[in-house]
Amino acid sequence: MFYFAFNNRDIILRRNGEALTADDMAALSIACGSTETYEESITGIRCLGLKNAELLPDGYMLHPLRFYFSEHTEEEVLRASRAKALLEWRSQTRYCPRCGAKLTDHETLTARLCPDCQNLIFPRIEPCVIMLIHRDGKILLARNVNNKNGMYACLAGFMEAGETAEQAVRREVFEEIHLHIRNLKYFGSQSWPFPAQLMIAFTAEYESGELQLQTEEIADAAWFDPLHLPAVTPPNGSIAHRLIQAAVDAASSSSSN
Ligand SMILES: [Zn+2]
Repeated sequence: MFYFAFNNRDIILRRNGEALTADDMAALSIACGSTETYEESITGIRCLGLKNAELLPDGYMLHPLRFYFSEHTEEEVLRASRAKALLEWRSQTRYCPRCGAKLTDHETLTARLCPDCQNLIFPRIEPCVIMLIHRDGKILLARNVNNKNGMYACLAGFMEAGETAEQAVRREVFEEIHLHIRNLKYFGSQSWPFPAQLMIAFTAEYESGELQLQTEEIADAAWFDPLHLPAVTPPNGSIAHRLIQAAVDAASSSSSN
């Protein structure tokens, strides 16, 4: 079995570095209360959402899940990411979207079952695109209006129904900063279970247009030399960080040659 406990965007870890056990789960649930639990038989994942993390007993600590993503093996990250995604899905899938009846857990599948109309609801993921645009050795970073700590990050957005990922990238870039791009290249992807995103990352090159911001969403956008980035950029553990770091690495290797 693999035991996971979460509080919002944090994972609960034992201070001694050992994995959580069934006893830990019971102790945490009693001390903090639980918002949700879920058990998946096929993976052996057991997850628990804590209600009141201020009551965390000695010997445990909260740790941002996105840091965990950059500190653990691919297998461990997959498991923790799935545990968090299942917990979010379970907590947001209580009633049948077709008939409104209260759902139950399916006996064998990772699915919720409607006892009235037999509707089966599987965990959903929400694809998002994220992109880093290059122009003459510089990269475009933008500050979102909702970001209060002045962070400059990559443009990103949810895919619309019916779109390909490439179409979503072009649409988001044009909507948010009014530029046309070319030479889209797939960079990688990351599960981002806050609550259910799949981040699909691309790089692209500037093609044409003048920067013109969609001011309801973008407070500022500018071209930055990767070796002179703004003070606050996306933290380690996110695919945005990996996209920017790849540009930094390429710039520093070409400047040292
Ligand atoms: Zn139903």
